Amino acid sequence: MDEPRCLQEGPDCRGKVEYHLNHDRDDFKAFPRCEHHQALRLAQAERTRELLSDVPPAWFDPSYAGERWDEEY
Ligand SMILES: [Zn+2]
Repeated sequence: MDEPRCLQEGPDCRGKVEYHLNHDRDDFKAFPRCEHHQALRLAQAERTRELLSDVPPAWFDPSYAGERWDEEY
């Protein structure tokens, strides 16, 4: 079997390439990524979860700039 190659193969690749399950997907497909790109992928998934959440993320301060999380536009 061939060694897996990083899905985002490029000069930034670091570490071992392995198949990773992404828990924000519900199809349980695994994708090969190096350690570096998998770390980026996880960080992106974290942000996506915050953006899609009905609950304001911990960093959101409703008093900041008068913005309100639940305001309808
Ligand atoms: Zn990579």
